[in-house]
Amino acid sequence: MELIDKIVELKKEKKAVILAHNYQRPEIQDIADYVGDSIELSRKAMEEKEAKIIVFSAVDFMAESAAILNPEKKVLLPSLGARCPMAQMLTVEEIKRWKALYPLVPVVLYVNTLASAKAYCDVCCTSANAVKVIESVNAETVLFGPDRNLADYVQRKTGKTIIPIPEWGFCPTHLLFQPEDVQLLKMQYPEAVVMVHPECTLEMRNVADFIGSTSQMCRYARENNAKTFIVATEEGLLHRLRKNNPEKQFILAYEGAVCPNMKLNTLERLYTALKEEKHVITVPKAIAERARKALEKMFELIN
Ligand code: SF4
Repeated sequence: MELIDKIVELKKEKKAVILAHNYQRPEIQDIADYVGDSIELSRKAMEEKEAKIIVFSAVDFMAESAAILNPEKKVLLPSLGARCPMAQMLTVEEIKRWKALYPLVPVVLYVNTLASAKAYCDVCCTSANAVKVIESVNAETVLFGPDRNLADYVQRKTGKTIIPIPEWGFCPTHLLFQPEDVQLLKMQYPEAVVMVHPECTLEMRNVADFIGSTSQMCRYARENNAKTFIVATEEGLLHRLRKNNPEKQFILAYEGAVCPNMKLNTLERLYTALKEEKHVITVPKAIAERARKALEKMFELIN
């Protein structure tokens, strides 16, 4: 029996649902019940009332959020090595240090943080709703982490003072994009629309026609009449973009923009994790309760 058939059979038998992030390998996206960004997937997990197991094919912090929001379900990560380096950049000690410096300033954290960090913030945000969340926060100065580029993007959009914590946090994959590469591609495809993720540098954002999260890029590409798009985000998204828009052309702004952490999940690892119900992601109750409040506050502010 083919591996894919074995996974499908196992999924039925164990009442499992497979959720895959937009940056997952194509074969994982194709077998998944849902493909999306981290919060879209966590919400899907909450809607899946019958499911007993969630295989969250993504990286550590996303599986943690799913576990926090779905405490009654077993959340599995196909590869335990799939850890987001940006999420590791913001420790609880660092948050405490900044809170001590700015005791009256609210802390807004990108969902790309570990649960232990989320437990020390007032509210979370995603790249899709960061501007809305910051606008809704009743303060003109905000501590924001861990992505420095997203902090800069939000500061420019909202006019508020955004203090990045740490001062240097970044996504190594999105940092690979350079405006020179886009300019070269534009010479070849002058009509192309340039879509850039807000985790990219300001120089990259300055050459964008559209700046948005992966889910916003999917919507924009579907609704825009352009035939060619240059895309500056992790290469996995191009599979979804091409699948959903077969008549349009999508070009990665830099061929090497691959997140090695996301790619640690393979069909084989997914199968083994589900078969053996291993790599269960759990969050200590006290941390989960506080982190859940920060996630729920985000849902409240954006609804
Ligand atoms: S693409 Fe960047 S932010 Fe996303 S998991 Fe990889 S390193 Fe982390």
